[in-house]
Amino acid sequence: MATLHGLDDPEVQPLMQKMNADSWDPRIDRNMLRPPERYIYIFTVSPREFIVDRPPLWIKFRLRACPRGQRYALVTRIPDPLMQKVHNTDTGKFRGEAHDGLRCTIDLLNPNNPTNDPDWNAAPEMAAYFSTSRGSDLFAQGLFISLKETPSEDEIRRAELRRERYYRALMAQADELEVTDRPGLQAMLKGEEGTDLRMALDYFGEQREYHKPMVPTMDCPNCGEPIKKNVAFHKSTALGGLLCVLDWRKAVMAGVKNKSDVPEEQRWWGEEAPVKRAAARPRSS
Ligand SMILES: [Zn+2]
Repeated sequence: MATLHGLDDPEVQPLMQKMNADSWDPRIDRNMLRPPERYIYIFTVSPREFIVDRPPLWIKFRLRACPRGQRYALVTRIPDPLMQKVHNTDTGKFRGEAHDGLRCTIDLLNPNNPTNDPDWNAAPEMAAYFSTSRGSDLFAQGLFISLKETPSEDEIRRAELRRERYYRALMAQADELEVTDRPGLQAMLKGEEGTDLRMALDYFGEQREYHKPMVPTMDCPNCGEPIKKNVAFHKSTALGGLLCVLDWRKAVMAGVKNKSDVPEEQRWWGEEAPVKRAAARPRSS
């Protein structure tokens, strides 16, 4: 029959060492087994998904995008303390190590940030020091943290502002390149920043020569011209600039055609309507 042993029981250590000889250091730190004190919740307002791959702590860690139509989305929660499997090079075995959860979370979202303040900005004289990892600040992308399961309005708003600030900076940079350095702009458009730049333009509803909103088109069944999908009418060059109508009812509702313009076979109102009205007239007249 099995007996319940404490972890400090003289029988347990040799037994566990024997059973896990190659993989695990059985001298267990009690911190590894206790429940976390709290969770750091990660949220996002960005429509873009990110994958952080910085082993050993974050291995292809996927940070999901905020779905369309939602203001923000919960990404994950990080336990505090965060336990890490650490390889002991002397013994070749693994052991657990406890890290500060908040510090790990901020480092995950912006490895340039050595503080516990998501809004921390490197002083200009430090910019050169941090410049090698440009683009790795996910706070600027709209990811944010909260100690609560539901973030406060202030936390969401600050995240939106950080994202807007980043987008504005990208657009300003692209606009400058457009007039001073066309190849530079092309290089920017091809890279990761190009993806963000296009998102920035869409976010603010802006168009540029290199970025126009894409609208699905079809050939008009009447005149054969390319038209936007689901339009009720359009100005047709094939018809010498006249209106080409696909949906007469909508065209009349919009006021671009009169009821008298509607061809006989397209009339949606019955002939009995005026007759009925005549019948309802008082006979005394
Ligand atoms: Zn047409």
